[in-house]
Amino acid sequence: YLLVLFCAGFGAIAWWVRRWLQSRYSLLGVMDDAIENGEFVNYYQPIVELATGRITGAEALVRWVKPDGSLIRPDLFIPLAEESGKIRGITLQVLENLERDLGAVLRARPDLYVSINVTEPDLTDDVFFDALAATCSPGRLPAGQVRIELTERCLIDSAQGVARVIRLREAGHAIYIDDFGTGYSSLSYLQKFPLDVLKIDKAFVDAMDTESVTGSVVPHIVGMASALGLHTLAEGIEQEGQRARLSAMGVQYGQGWLFDKPLPAERFIERVSDE
Ligand code: C2E
Ligand code: MG
Ligand code: MG
Ligand code: MG
Repeated sequence: YLLVLFCAGFGAIAWWVRRWLQSRYSLLGVMDDAIENGEFVNYYQPIVELATGRITGAEALVRWVKPDGSLIRPDLFIPLAEESGKIRGITLQVLENLERDLGAVLRARPDLYVSINVTEPDLTDDVFFDALAATCSPGRLPAGQVRIELTERCLIDSAQGVARVIRLREAGHAIYIDDFGTGYSSLSYLQKFPLDVLKIDKAFVDAMDTESVTGSVVPHIVGMASALGLHTLAEGIEQEGQRARLSAMGVQYGQGWLFDKPLPAERFIERVSDE
């Protein structure tokens, strides 16, 4: 009886592992074609000034639109794309999409900026640096309005990180640290990099309403950030109460469903022309 139970258990696990591997490799297998066919599109989530609600820009968030029209969320394919290095092709497409979607708007509105998410494989990719420099040249995208989001992990993992970040900064791009607080870096480590904005991870915003230690961290992050001359931006704000508390704590910027979900380019353009 025990043997039957054991075999059944083992079978179930093997089945599950096979399904997982299959879904993983079937996504990876079609990713090259998807890059080739331009199946990645950008959505834009408005970033607002917390005190006034004014839209100051957006974060470009990629979506994979399959030929049948179905949409794949980035958490499902970005980690795979990063591990396999295929992310480089996706990042180049995000940049291309950005110029096509918002080039005219950004040239007409020097007060708006857009950030793109850049990963460790991109940071060491000369093709990416060349494409960024070419795209951010006169008459195309203004470099000062294209900002770069990097995670702490990406900076720690990248051997040439500091030099690369300095290069981006010198080209006019402000640097955001994404998902701040979820990595292993200390602010003293991050001090080696020329940075502009810390994006406080949604986990801390969610925890503010609880008694947990995590919930009490935000004021400390804001204090350290301002001591280092950095601005702060809170992610994943869903409630007015969160906006008010974050703003009172000195967090300057925010994004989240309270303001807007990530929007298709046309909707984002409508949104900023309403202002
Ligand atoms: P992220 O860079 O931290 O982006 C913020 C994520 O939080 C986005 O998820 C956004 O839709 C979601 N979000 C924003 N406000 C709220 C809110 O109020 N409530 C909730 N529940 N969620 C909110 P998304 O678009 O699914 O992207 C997930 C992650 O995938 C991103 O996290 C980023 O790490 C990665 N990603 C997205 N686009 C790109 C890209 O173009 N390149 C790279 N390398 N990574 C990307
Ligand atoms: Mg981001
Ligand atoms: Mg983030
Ligand atoms: Mg996040």
